[in-house]
Amino acid sequence: MIVVMQAGASKAQINHVVERIGSLGLSVHLSQGEFRTIIGAIGDKKPEHQSILEAIDGVEQVVPIMRPYKLASREFHKADSQVDVGGVKLGGGGVVLIAGPCAIESREFLRTIAASVRASGAAILRGGAFKPRTSPYSFQGMGEDGLKILREVGDEFAMPVVTEVMDVRDVDLVARYADMLQIGARNVQNFNLLAEVGRTGKPVFLKRGFATTVREYLMSAEYVLSQDNHKLVLCERGIKTFETELRFTFDVSAVPVIKHDTHLPVFVDPSHASGRREFVTALALAGVAAGADGVMVEVHHCPEAAMCDGPQALYPEMFEDLARRVAAVAKAVGKELTLPKER
Ligand code: PEP
Ligand code: MN
Repeated sequence: MIVVMQAGASKAQINHVVERIGSLGLSVHLSQGEFRTIIGAIGDKKPEHQSILEAIDGVEQVVPIMRPYKLASREFHKADSQVDVGGVKLGGGGVVLIAGPCAIESREFLRTIAASVRASGAAILRGGAFKPRTSPYSFQGMGEDGLKILREVGDEFAMPVVTEVMDVRDVDLVARYADMLQIGARNVQNFNLLAEVGRTGKPVFLKRGFATTVREYLMSAEYVLSQDNHKLVLCERGIKTFETELRFTFDVSAVPVIKHDTHLPVFVDPSHASGRREFVTALALAGVAAGADGVMVEVHHCPEAAMCDGPQALYPEMFEDLARRVAAVAKAVGKELTLPKER
């Protein structure tokens, strides 16, 4: 951390900063220029140290040198990490398709959708049993009945399953059924929930919030990792901007930025990013071209019967086309589409 003193800082102010750095258990490296004094603080820093020093009179700016997220950072772990989800590897070279309906609606629907997305190349099945809905009067998901269906259908088609958990009280329940626990955009800064899913030791699929910066998002990732759970996968799913043509704005730049700064697998979710099926494939391809390790996408054989997010659900034949083109883009960037497990 570097403390930049104001141009006219007094000797007393400089001495006070030097003493305060010492009292925090850090060592001092003083650099006195003609106009300005710069003080380096070296040692085991805590997040609160920055604001303590910023509050001192005569300090212009405190600049952290190390990234605030340690465990997520590439400084900590150089190589790309790989997360095993029920036998399917996420990150580290392959491109994985996660597909399924927004919500689990019935066994028949889920079986139909799972059969088709698997045949097209999806290795992991998605489906929500607890849905975060804007209105309390909207369909909220099937709960544990939905989880049972998801588990059975996943096993039938040899597809590991991912589903959202919204509440700390449901973490154990969802962890009993799912291979990977999804934290949705709306809970990206629910720190108790992040710590709780971290503690399960299960793979975690953490969506970026639609109003979180990359830095804030990576601090959320740190909550999971700091529970000694390194099975973490990130996902860009669109952010709120001034643009209103689509549901959200797909922040494709987040993919290379996060991959540059961290070692974690990064997915994209073009379904929630766009909100409309006609744009999903283009965004999926852009995400993979930008370096994404996989794509999560919503598919429904009968979108008009979907209880949730019908307008963005791909028809099975659209998903088949997406999978074929994702495989081609993956090849173009030196990767390979990961095939579903053997049945
Ligand atoms: C979902 O994947 O079902 C979902 C609700 O996504 P998000 O949290 O990104 O809105
Ligand atoms: Mn959805």
